[in-house]
Amino acid sequence: MLSSPQFPASMPSNPEDRFRLITQCLNAVRQQLTDVAIRCGRDPAAIQLLAVSKKHSVDAVTAAAQAGQQNFGESYLQEALPKMSACLDLKMTPLIWHFIGQVQSNKTKTIAEHFDWLHTLDRAKIAQRLNDQRPIHMSPLQVCIQVKLAEEKTKGGIDSTELLSLAQTIIQLPRLKLRGLMCIPPPSDSYEQQRKYFAQLATLQKDLNQQLAADAQLDTLSMGMSDDFEAAIAEGTTMIRIGTAIFGQRR
Ligand SMILES: *Cc1c(COP(=O)(O)O)cnc(C)c1O
Repeated sequence: MLSSPQFPASMPSNPEDRFRLITQCLNAVRQQLTDVAIRCGRDPAAIQLLAVSKKHSVDAVTAAAQAGQQNFGESYLQEALPKMSACLDLKMTPLIWHFIGQVQSNKTKTIAEHFDWLHTLDRAKIAQRLNDQRPIHMSPLQVCIQVKLAEEKTKGGIDSTELLSLAQTIIQLPRLKLRGLMCIPPPSDSYEQQRKYFAQLATLQKDLNQQLAADAQLDTLSMGMSDDFEAAIAEGTTMIRIGTAIFGQRR
């Protein structure tokens, strides 16, 4: 379990205290990422940290950005867009924005026009729309296919039996770049159970890569959140998505 013992129940109202707290938490998360990776015999540099800033303010994002964080994840477009444009206005080093929420058809244009990555692609129709709507001046949208590892009605994700076919569809689309697989397994307190789900996704990726051409190989496993990132690192994650441990409880 990722621990941020220094996190108080609510964010300090003073901007400097808030900045210091987020910097401390971010550094604590980085340290834990490194420690766990080394314990698992993995190179810490092979694991990216995605800071999930949904339901947190522009201030929170800029604090993390000033502490060197470049990749940010958002789940809701209506709050992500104002945050993104505020960050642009601040003229910081450009941030890399990842959409990690569920995608409805009527949202694809906004995602295609504003984001660098999408982690939750699970339908061919959505892939086609994103491809058609990705502006020509932008580089291809980097995408992960979300895979459903257990039956949960409220969560998105494709069944693993349909994975190969969706991957082949996406690979044909020039404005998308298929990078990997993503999962949000059912919450579990058991480290062993957490590892089982992540191992499943890693195996699916390995099997898929054997069926894809050399130039279409997937290199990204987007798995692990605040409560299960250790298990994800043990099973080969390349991108952990951490919100609470960096920014505190969401409002
Ligand atoms: C909110 C969210 C996270 C971050 O969760 P924490 O438990 O706060 O670390 C990660 N991934 C997805 C898809 C999310 O929606």
